[in-house]
Amino acid sequence: MLPGPNLIYKCPNCDNILQNQSLLSGNTFDGKIYSDGKRIYTMLPEFPDLTKCIKCGHIFWLSKTTEIGSYNWGDEQNLLWRNADKAEFLTIDEYFMALSFNVAKDKSGEFYIRQRIWWSFNDRVRNGKVLCNSEEEKTRWESNINGLIKILDPDDVSQLIMIAELNRNLGNFEICLTIIESLDNPDIDWLKEAFIKNCSDRNQLVFRLN
Ligand SMILES: [Zn+2]
Repeated sequence: MLPGPNLIYKCPNCDNILQNQSLLSGNTFDGKIYSDGKRIYTMLPEFPDLTKCIKCGHIFWLSKTTEIGSYNWGDEQNLLWRNADKAEFLTIDEYFMALSFNVAKDKSGEFYIRQRIWWSFNDRVRNGKVLCNSEEEKTRWESNINGLIKILDPDDVSQLIMIAELNRNLGNFEICLTIIESLDNPDIDWLKEAFIKNCSDRNQLVFRLN
């Protein structure tokens, strides 16, 4: 894994300086692949795109914000940049806040946010914790899943598999099975088998595919 330069941004609301890591190269060796499509690679870390300014609380897209500079590890000259706040991933509450403030702007933005909410809940299961801590949280979890299903395109095979998985999460095993069994591609027979098994086990939770 080869780290890239640290990229420097200015908060569009208050001029606070933030830094985000980047990667020159990595690899997918020894990755973990999950039924919700999340892939975790030790040698290919992901960095946030949507983040929150620690100083003023403004939530914004780094990819839509112009970089004001960058520095490499070992560079000594710019202490202000080196000491800048590190861009962090949002929490589940902050992602919901981003949705209600219409930070998404378009469908791809909404997809990013809703997928991150979905994955963040599933991260709890990946880490051996419960999916939802209260009935209120379960209602929000469910509303996000329904919102995600609404914006996915069933004509795109990978999005169709996502729709099947989201329905399995909701306990709609028959819908999940109908979708999965309609997929006609021998290359994904292993994936179909895994979904069919988890549906017959009545498992709604995220599971590991490899
Ligand atoms: Zn700010």
